Amino acid sequence: MTIERAAIVCKERGLPGVALTDHMDIDTPTGVDRFMFDPGQQQLMCDKISRKYGVELLKGIELGLQPNTVEKSRERLSPFTFDTVILSVHFVDGLDPYHQPDFFEGKDYIRAYGRYLETILECIKGYGDFDTLGHYDYITRYAPYKERVIRYSDFPDLMDSILSYLAQNGKALEINTNTYRSRYRGASSPDPDIFRRFKELGGKFVSLGSDSHTDDRIYDNFGFFADFLSNCGFRYLTMFRGRKASLTSI
Ligand SMILES: [Zn+2]
Repeated sequence: MTIERAAIVCKERGLPGVALTDHMDIDTPTGVDRFMFDPGQQQLMCDKISRKYGVELLKGIELGLQPNTVEKSRERLSPFTFDTVILSVHFVDGLDPYHQPDFFEGKDYIRAYGRYLETILECIKGYGDFDTLGHYDYITRYAPYKERVIRYSDFPDLMDSILSYLAQNGKALEINTNTYRSRYRGASSPDPDIFRRFKELGGKFVSLGSDSHTDDRIYDNFGFFADFLSNCGFRYLTMFRGRKASLTSI
């Protein structure tokens, strides 16, 4: 989807705007550089298209990290200023679970999901300069197990480490609505205990991301997941503008 198409859809649907979080992952395990983009070009286009259509286009990035790409990614992004930075993890132990299902071989779900969460913890602590942790349960999309949700009760220590870090550093925990689409044959929503625990640990910021790739999925299922977050005790959704949290009542 082009930036212009996103702006047109916002205009047509009466939406105030959208955060464009193009995906960057360097040194991918399969050597594919599909997930690269030029932030300078993106930002110029955002300004131009935003003026043309009168909708707000936030300049964002979804930065995919591996422990060994933390410093290289920091260097790569240092010339740019974003509205919002989502940090996410797509690869574990040098493997891409989407294209390389052998990641799951010989592991039960506790081991596989646990390695994913350990990698998230290492990356968020190592990088630090982000606003939102994206799709903490991405690994479940491609997992071969019948357990298709990351439950707090299965990983209390690891989840506490991740959630405490986010809470203490003013970061947002995202629900990525893409994960719960029927195409992945998984859970229809995340484990509410994870969001309740985040709140207990002092977490204030939660956000929704549609990871929409195509224009029909912009804001996909936001009503349902806003209710979910409200039931977990949150009163506001968060977006970041100029790297500062901006809250909207649920
Ligand atoms: Zn992602």
